[in-house]
Amino acid sequence: MIVVTGATGNLGQLVVEGLVNEVPVEQIAVVVRDAAKAARFGELGVEVRVADYSDPASLVDAFREGEKVLLISGSEVGQRVPQHKAVIDAAKRANVALLGYTSILGGPAADIELAREHQITERYLIDSGLPYVLLRNGFYHEVYTGGLGTAIANGGVLTSSAEGAKVATAARADYAAAAVAVLTAEGHENRAYELSGDEVWTFEEYAAEASRQLGSELPVNRVPADVHREILVGAGLPDPVAAVFVGVDEGISRGVLAVQTGDLAKLIGRPTTPIAHSITEGLAAAR
Ligand code: NDP
Repeated sequence: MIVVTGATGNLGQLVVEGLVNEVPVEQIAVVVRDAAKAARFGELGVEVRVADYSDPASLVDAFREGEKVLLISGSEVGQRVPQHKAVIDAAKRANVALLGYTSILGGPAADIELAREHQITERYLIDSGLPYVLLRNGFYHEVYTGGLGTAIANGGVLTSSAEGAKVATAARADYAAAAVAVLTAEGHENRAYELSGDEVWTFEEYAAEASRQLGSELPVNRVPADVHREILVGAGLPDPVAAVFVGVDEGISRGVLAVQTGDLAKLIGRPTTPIAHSITEGLAAAR
């Protein structure tokens, strides 16, 4: 059995869809906190288990001996260490065969605050003694292209406090395909994959491509770090979380998210999806 947590999220849905194409549906289970959101998978024949990362008691029956589990990192920044530890503890008690974890590009070397929860989780997982595989995902193309509608309404393609920024993002679907690859083949135990796109791009290159596709010139809206933080708080982020995201841009200026190893293309067996393709999708969604 292959079990995917966080399966109702954007990445998780793509992983489950990929698994359905690769293995018999009765060999797939999902762990979700809201069964109603997983109804589509249930109708396909995927087993739906309900548990919340924040509720260790709910995780007691989430996994069975010998299963391959993908822990998709939680989305509640600041709460993820106890959440992920609870999932790992449950997997350890169940004696699963493999625990995959969606970490951050660079792992221990990613010198940004956003990486801390991932680094602590990685260490805890390795120390658990469970066979593991670390999928150290770079940023998604969609982190940028998913916000194109709002950005254009604000007169630019993105707002950033990063300087001289370069990133090696990849499409969320490519990271999902990599997860499917490690869950459906043997030989990935106790390995860490640094996953990022084949292209490294600057924000100016991104602006030029989006402007070309849109047919009108759009700049990068560059702001100082303190203004960036105020904008994020104004958009509804708690101030400490806004600070973490401003820290990401500072890290991007140092190239933290520009690491390229080719691991992603190797795992998925094809070149990664170009950013231009995701810009097209982002612009279509924004219309
Ligand atoms: P989403 O926010 O779409 O999905 C997060 C998933 O985690 C959802 O299924 C959500 O459940 C689940 N989840 C969150 N908290 C809990 C909890 N307490 N108990 C059980 N399930 C929980 O993010 P993505 O799918 O796009 O990305 C996956 C993860 O990757 C993110 O959670 C985050 O850790 C990280 N990430 C990576 C980015 C990158 O660029 N590499 C960008 C953004 C996030 P529900 O559906 O019920 O809300």
